[in-house]
This record gives sequence, structure tokens and C-alpha cells, in this order.
Amino acid sequence: MHRVTLWAGALVLALLVSGCTTGNRGAWLKISGYTQGTTYNITYQDPDSTDYQEQLEKLLGEFDQSLSTYLPSSIVSRMNQGIPDVVADEYFRICFLAAEEVYAATGGAFDITVAPVVNAWGFGFTERSRVDSALIDSLLQFVGMNKVSLRENKLVREREGMMLDMNAIAQGYAVDVLAEFFDAENIENYLVEIGGEVRCSGKNRFGLDWRIGIDKPIDGLQLPGVQMQAIVQISGRSLATSGNYRRFYEEDGIKYSHTIDPSTGYPVQHGLLSATVVASDCMRADAYATAFMVMGYEKARRFLEKHTYLDAYLIFNDEMGEYRVWYTAGMEKILSEEL
Ligand code: AMP
Ligand code: MG
Repeated sequence: MHRVTLWAGALVLALLVSGCTTGNRGAWLKISGYTQGTTYNITYQDPDSTDYQEQLEKLLGEFDQSLSTYLPSSIVSRMNQGIPDVVADEYFRICFLAAEEVYAATGGAFDITVAPVVNAWGFGFTERSRVDSALIDSLLQFVGMNKVSLRENKLVREREGMMLDMNAIAQGYAVDVLAEFFDAENIENYLVEIGGEVRCSGKNRFGLDWRIGIDKPIDGLQLPGVQMQAIVQISGRSLATSGNYRRFYEEDGIKYSHTIDPSTGYPVQHGLLSATVVASDCMRADAYATAFMVMGYEKARRFLEKHTYLDAYLIFNDEMGEYRVWYTAGMEKILSEEL
């Protein structure tokens, strides 16, 4: 009896050791760097120990040439400058169509045409304006995804001056693009992370599901993983978090968050501190996380109770100012208590 247990123990240890080094699916490799104004981290297991950094960075470069609002020469920037006949590429098309889908599903809470208002509040790609209600009212004429469409891969807008802000969806989509690169290379076990948005496949180096931390939404907390609220175990799915604890400013005691309610043109003011979404693709996880920050806790919860294809973990202050969490039934199954 004693001997059997010992053997079992040794077997587990052997598996762990082989998982740490080469094993039959190859060595574990790590790649990190900077992209889209943030960091990226990738871990993968490859039989040939191939370093894919150059190829991945080339992909990220092409991606930015399509969707980055910080690159004046990108497709989205040229459209935003009003240059006629700019042709959308595949990245743009996929992202735009997904943005339309999430816009419709969320009743307009997620809306990439919010760009002029985001810019006015100082969270976009131009200088902040002096904001008053007259300015916001006039800018709202340029907001509404029902007023733009893609026709023959060209952007058609109801009004000149309408602009797109891809920041709430493109980062998640970039994660998908890198993940799909690994899928195409037949690499089964990997984790791709850009600025806290994650997609993983297969198992980690210990042969277990990947464990991803959800940060505590503490104002000004910039470094992910320093103060964790919970851990979720996921495999073959993606996780994205939106929160107003990283990007905001304070003026005269009022906190201005970078999430804008497209129906009012104002930064959201409610108790939802962060929304973490688990979905099969990171693009939708990213977009819905932003949409939930617009909706606030009550609305987001009602939405999630109806749309069970999404899992989410919401952290909020209730009416009494108490710090609370709520999560979907699907989330409960993959949440791990121990940090
Ligand atoms: P995220 O961190 O993914 O929640 O994205 C936040 C960014 O999305 C902001 O900095 C804005 O550029 C943009 N944004 C703000 N409000 C909205 C909205 N209601 N719909 C879509 N994008 C938004
Ligand atoms: Mg987002």
C-alpha cells in the first residue's frame, strides 16, 4: 500500500519535471515585449523550440497598420481623417463587424463611433477639449454605429466627421490574431497576453488548465498581478477585464473615467469597478467587458443572466458603498478560491 502511494507520487513528480523541460510536445518558451502602448507576454510549448518573436511582431505591426488610432497612417486613422476611399483590410473588416454585433447586442452601450466624445474628454488620440454640455450635445450627432457601415470594404458614414475608436476591442482582437498564429502552427499549449487580455489553449507547463488572476480594482494600480481578487482556470478560452482603476483623472474631486456612455456622452459614474469577461474569443471578451462598464452592475447582471454564452466576474460598490462581487454560474465552476 505504502509502496503504491510512493510510486504514484513519483509519477506525478516525473510528469511535472518533463512538463518543465522538454517532454514529448517540446520545450516551453517565453516571449515578451511592447505593443499597442502596453506589454505582451506569450508562453508556448514547441517541439522544435522555434522562437516566433520576429513573426509575431511582424503580425502585430501589420495589425497596427490596420487598427491603431495612434498610427496616423493606419487604415482606421486615415478613415478618421476623412480621406476618401480608404479600403478596409481583413483585420479591419472582422473587427468592425464584431463591433457592430456587440453594439446591437448591448443596445448601443458598446459603440466605436464614440471617438469624438472620447477625444473631447481627453482619452483619445487628440488633445482634450474644454468640455461643456453644449459641446457634448453637438458631438453626439457624430455618435451612433447605426450611422456607419462598410460597403465594398469602404466606410460609409451618415455624417462627415464621424470617427471610429477601436481601443475597446482591438487589443482583444490582437490576442486572437496571435493565438490563431499558434493554432495554424499546430501548437496546442500556449498563453497569449496583451495588456491583461488573455487567450489560452491546452495546458500549462504542469499539465493543468491555465490559471489567470483577476486584479483587485484599486485606483491607480498599474501593474497586473500585484493584488489579486480571484483566479480563474481556463483552457481554450479568453479573458478580458475593463475597469476604471487604471485610466481616469480627477478634477475638483470628480473622477472622470475613460468609459463613455454613448447615450449621454459623459464618462460613466456608477459603482461597477471592474468587469472581467470569459468568452471563446478575446475580441468579444474585450468588447463586452467595456460594454458592461457602460451598463453598470444591475444592467450588466440582467444582461448576463439572459446571455449565458458569456461568463463574467463583476466587482462593484453597492448602494451602501460596500465592496462586493457577483459572477455568473459558469464563472463559479472555473473560479479558484486560493490565490
Ligand atoms: P477598455 O479598456 O477595453 O474598456 O477600452 C476603453 C477604451 O474604449 C476607452 O479608452 C475609449 O477609447 C474607448 N471607449 C470608451 N467608451 C466606449 C464605449 N462606450 N464603446 C466603445 N469604446 C469605448
Ligand atoms: Mg474592452
